[in-house]
Amino acid sequence: MVQPYKHEPFTNFKLDENRQAYLAGLKTVEGYLGQDYDLVIGGERISTEDKIVSYNPANKTEVIGRVSKANRDLAEKAMQEAVEAFKTWKKVKPETRADVLFKAAAIIRRRKHEFSALLTKEAGKPWNEADADTAEAIDFLEFYARQMLKIKDGVPVNSRPNEYNRYDYIPLGVGIIISPWNFPLAIMAGTTVAAIVAGNTVLLKPASTTPVVAAKFVEVMEEAGLPKGVLNFVPGSGAEVGDYLVDHKDTRFISFTGSRDVGLRIFERSSKVNEGQIWMKRLIAEMGGKDTIVVDKEADLELAATSIVASAFGFSGQKCSACSRAVIVEDVYDQVLNRVVELTKELTQGDPVDQNNYMATVIDQNAFDKIMSYIEIGKQEGKLMTGGEGDDSKGYFIKPTVFADLSPDARIMKEEIFGPVVGFTKAKDFDHAIEIANDTEYGLTGAVITNNRENIQKAREDFHVGNLYFNRGCTGAIVGYQPFGGFNMSGTDSKAGGPDYIMLHMQAKTTSEMF
Ligand code: GLU
Repeated sequence: MVQPYKHEPFTNFKLDENRQAYLAGLKTVEGYLGQDYDLVIGGERISTEDKIVSYNPANKTEVIGRVSKANRDLAEKAMQEAVEAFKTWKKVKPETRADVLFKAAAIIRRRKHEFSALLTKEAGKPWNEADADTAEAIDFLEFYARQMLKIKDGVPVNSRPNEYNRYDYIPLGVGIIISPWNFPLAIMAGTTVAAIVAGNTVLLKPASTTPVVAAKFVEVMEEAGLPKGVLNFVPGSGAEVGDYLVDHKDTRFISFTGSRDVGLRIFERSSKVNEGQIWMKRLIAEMGGKDTIVVDKEADLELAATSIVASAFGFSGQKCSACSRAVIVEDVYDQVLNRVVELTKELTQGDPVDQNNYMATVIDQNAFDKIMSYIEIGKQEGKLMTGGEGDDSKGYFIKPTVFADLSPDARIMKEEIFGPVVGFTKAKDFDHAIEIANDTEYGLTGAVITNNRENIQKAREDFHVGNLYFNRGCTGAIVGYQPFGGFNMSGTDSKAGGPDYIMLHMQAKTTSEMF
């Protein structure tokens, strides 16, 4: 009997044994830094001359690994393998498919701190953030496996006398999984296994900045007993491999997590019917955010300040759920702002392998340059309260940055920065605050700090985001507890870790028999 789902607990690193376990994981990772990783196509390992080199963002010269890079021919080969494997994988019993996920969860749980340490090294995740990423990957495996078991016998529909009606979910076909670097284990694994457990076969193209953790995950899935050809590993460039696969006539669906611009490009390209294609491709897209914490005048102001700081600067603000706007009712504006500045100045920053560092780097040079240019814009548009400096001599470090007194239509308040920058603006009253919060093309997360029950109700109805939180921060959704996904330009509102997520990778078939 499968135990009921419970999310994987976070590790308490105050305990010495847990600290030692993490450090042992780090040692394991250090033992394999700089190795080569192959493509996996139809179960065959293929090494290419051309490699994606993954570097440590906190120490630019340290090579995490060198990963083979697919080109069009290899992508085509992987597609043919996936098409072939689909013919048998779709007929494998859902229970057997779920068992692969359960075993993979157990393997990752056993190697939890190794995976977290790898996230620290490859993505610049401080211990707690890395631990949460690994825990979420385990959650996705455990949760989606159970979801499949729940719907394996279909969903009940009515039948008249002498009639037997069924409503069953069947898989779609070959899916392209294009995953992000900011949750390089959790989202990469979650999007991959949701598709697989539903009976599809996939081509996984991980983010080019974090391909090593993806390669390690592919090994776990093999060890867990996944048949050849179900999960094909094809790191490569977006322009060469990504576009080719998105356009491919045999691609049945695309599961993408990343920026708005890339998401829209995929949306457009995938809507074109190519020669030989006999379906309209389905797109599952999770894109950006411009997420707001609203603080009411009747509120716990300390809670407001700590929530803003944690949501803005956790993992250097590189979450699509991160708080990049703080909208404060004018009566309490100065108090909240000053406290946020105080708390921000206390944050520790440095190499994430050191447990004492709350914050580390941003992911790469492009991110560093883009965020630094937004900081220059912010200096023109508002008042720099703290931070504003970057140092990319050794790694991509940017100080946690607070801008105050921004107009609601400043660029800092409108455009996704994806870094440790939060902008403050003043609202006349609560209604005005919600109006400002909604004035964006995104609609992913939001939080409201208030003790006013009426205002909670108002925000519940009017604050237009996929994930709305009260009296807490706006990051850290838990699989199976707070299904995660947004409105408008934040994506297709496909709720990761939600009760209907795997159905998005399936199609419903009605059968009706007369007796
Ligand atoms: N699910 C994460 C959270 O709630 C964010 C995911 C993302 O950044 O893509 O913080």
